[in-house]
Amino acid sequence: MTDCAAHEDFVFVDEPDGSAAAPPLAAWHILVVDDEPDVHAATRLALKGLEIEGRSLAFSHAHTVREAQILLERPNDFAVALIDVVMETEDAGLRLVRYVRDKLANSALRIVLRTGQPGYAPELQTIQQYDINDYRTKSELTQVRLFTSLAIAIRAYAQIQQLESGHQRLARILDATLALGKATTLEGFAQNLVVQLDALLAGQVASPAGEHRGPDASPIAIALQQEGAEPCVLAATAPWQDWAGQALDSLGLQRGVRQLQQTLQAQDHCFDDGVQLFIPSAHAMALAVWVDLPRPLQPLEQGLLEVFASNVSVAFENLQLYLDINELAFVDDLVGLPNRNAMVAALDAQEYPQGVLALLDLDGFADINSVLDAHFGDAVLQTVAQRLEAEFAHAREAVVARVGGDLFGVYGLAAAITPQRLAQVFAQPFAVNDGEPLRLSATAGLVQSPGEGGVAALKDAGVALKQAKRMARGASLYFDPTQSQAAGQRMQLLNRLRAAFSEQRLCLYYQPCVELRTGRVVGAECLLRWQTAPGKFIPPDQFIPLAEQSGLMLALGRWVVSTALRWRKGLSAQVADDFRVAINVSQVQFAEPDFVSHFLAAMEAVGVSGQQVEIELTESVAVGNVRELEAKLAQLRKAGIRVAMDDFGTGYSSLSILQRLAVDKLKIDRSFVSGGPSAADNFQIAHTIISLARHLQLATLAEGIETEAQRQALLSAGCELGQGYLFSRPLPEDDFQAWLDQQP
Ligand code: C2E
Ligand code: MG
Ligand code: MG
Repeated sequence: MTDCAAHEDFVFVDEPDGSAAAPPLAAWHILVVDDEPDVHAATRLALKGLEIEGRSLAFSHAHTVREAQILLERPNDFAVALIDVVMETEDAGLRLVRYVRDKLANSALRIVLRTGQPGYAPELQTIQQYDINDYRTKSELTQVRLFTSLAIAIRAYAQIQQLESGHQRLARILDATLALGKATTLEGFAQNLVVQLDALLAGQVASPAGEHRGPDASPIAIALQQEGAEPCVLAATAPWQDWAGQALDSLGLQRGVRQLQQTLQAQDHCFDDGVQLFIPSAHAMALAVWVDLPRPLQPLEQGLLEVFASNVSVAFENLQLYLDINELAFVDDLVGLPNRNAMVAALDAQEYPQGVLALLDLDGFADINSVLDAHFGDAVLQTVAQRLEAEFAHAREAVVARVGGDLFGVYGLAAAITPQRLAQVFAQPFAVNDGEPLRLSATAGLVQSPGEGGVAALKDAGVALKQAKRMARGASLYFDPTQSQAAGQRMQLLNRLRAAFSEQRLCLYYQPCVELRTGRVVGAECLLRWQTAPGKFIPPDQFIPLAEQSGLMLALGRWVVSTALRWRKGLSAQVADDFRVAINVSQVQFAEPDFVSHFLAAMEAVGVSGQQVEIELTESVAVGNVRELEAKLAQLRKAGIRVAMDDFGTGYSSLSILQRLAVDKLKIDRSFVSGGPSAADNFQIAHTIISLARHLQLATLAEGIETEAQRQALLSAGCELGQGYLFSRPLPEDDFQAWLDQQP
């Protein structure tokens, strides 16, 4: 690139456009190099007032090679140099030419050599070697000849300039395409396109977002056509900046709008009036670009724009691929809302600083799904999604996402995301599949100013939601950070429990059950123990609920069953044949459809009979399907296994359950047995339970007997069996053996 070219980067801009408003074009700069002052004056005179390509001529003068060198070394826009061959020396002019081409590497400058004496320079050789436009004796150069020679040289210069700037533009097109490839949204892509078009057409320095446009930048508008949607404006610059985001048809019959519409219709570029580019893609999308360029395009420019447009097409196609992939990753395809990833991203980006996140869980959705069918369940989710979106997302008050099965996230303005507004959304029934109106409610957990990243915010909302669910259907609860600490601790404990279980650090203790009247041992309850340090235990009341919530309980329960059965088998020689090992079975285990078959298989595998086993259930089993429950109990009892109702009296629907379920025994909770401030009242309850059991012909066992007085009282109230520290604490296997040996 020469200095001239550097200075005149965008010569197209200076092309005549015939419009009255256009600024006068710069003159062609001519350098006259001659040691005879007369020649300078004569040249100026000969060319005075003449124009070439609508531009006047301006002269600079040098009288020596050195003077000429100085002028040429500075930044300049000389188009032509008229150089005398013979000056200080016979070949001074030729040396200057060599200097320009070789030293300054200026290949754009056109050179006309003039000489007083022909024969000093070998004409042909010089012209070829140094790219000289003309070589004339001064006498030959009449005014007309001089002008013609100069005009030819200037046109050649202009052409070279065009070619050079064309090269630069090609390079710029490559850069522009790369920049376009970085866009991740349609809007961002269009913004980038504006910047690149500015750079290509007006020589503006591209600014990253296109907001600082140069004063000469031409207005640009870009429209998007998308299958199934109205064409709309993606980006527009002043004076049309208001168009952005609007449907094309809504903008009236303005010139630029018509141009965009026409481009989309014709599906082709057009350069008749400004620049109309059509950017197609294989994805049922297309862009129309309109640049209101106040000058005709040069053919070379047009060619470059076509190249640019086809590169933009490629980048546009890539953007759509990216968007498609993104859509898969960020959109829920069932309901068409943003998904969990998108919600996390919105929260991460703090789209609503000081906002509120609400996590909504549809109440009873599992029933809808199982009682009605899954298709109907899908339709319910879609209907709810639409309502939430209409309520919050359309007005941009919030981002609405489906973050899980029947879980919706609403994250937005604090004023909008309130329990009242959420309740309102569900106040009206939903028309699912245009059928019967369906009443729905949702329980919500809310987080104020979610700050610590999206994942953490959703977790907090989940904690509040869980809490709310325990309260009532349709309740809303704000997250309280102390809850999350507790949740975190529970999570930690659960992880430790998992490790302890897999490393076989859990064990069973056994506590004897005795006949209150005789003291005879009739069985033993096995109780889980988790020892963390010598003498330090984490009580099962703490870790069993965790195991139940996490699903670990199933594996844990099976381990308890097989360990207890093997223990019982090992006792065969020391205890009566009908000594029963009582195994606590949690509701989670019992609810498994194959619980009974597994249990019976385990008994068979170990070689333990039904009369050697008892199962302890709590009242919570009654929450399941009653018919299934009855069938299971019947199967167990048919195998000779006894079923005890544990902790009896602590549940709320004890009596109704007892009437429904066939059990053999009631275990009276120790809270009714042990002494305390209201021991008398408590004992009254124990008394009632005992008479109830007798009435239903059930055996009774009192838990937690610690004193002889308690034993006496229970015995006289009619309770046959007992368990408690009075007889023995729960003991490890070996200690239990030793204890047995001591029994009379
Ligand atoms: P539970 O089945 O009612 O067990 C009786 C609880 O009373 C045991 O507490 C036992 O150590 C305690 N206990 C026994 N005698 C006395 C006494 O005289 N005074 C006092 N104050 N307490 C006495 P533990 O071992 O802490 O177990 C608590 C609960 O954890 C059990 O209540 C049971 O619901 C559950 N659990 C224990 N092991 C298992 C198991 O293997 N599977 C399942 N599903 N639950 C278990
Ligand atoms: Mg028990
Ligand atoms: Mg109990």
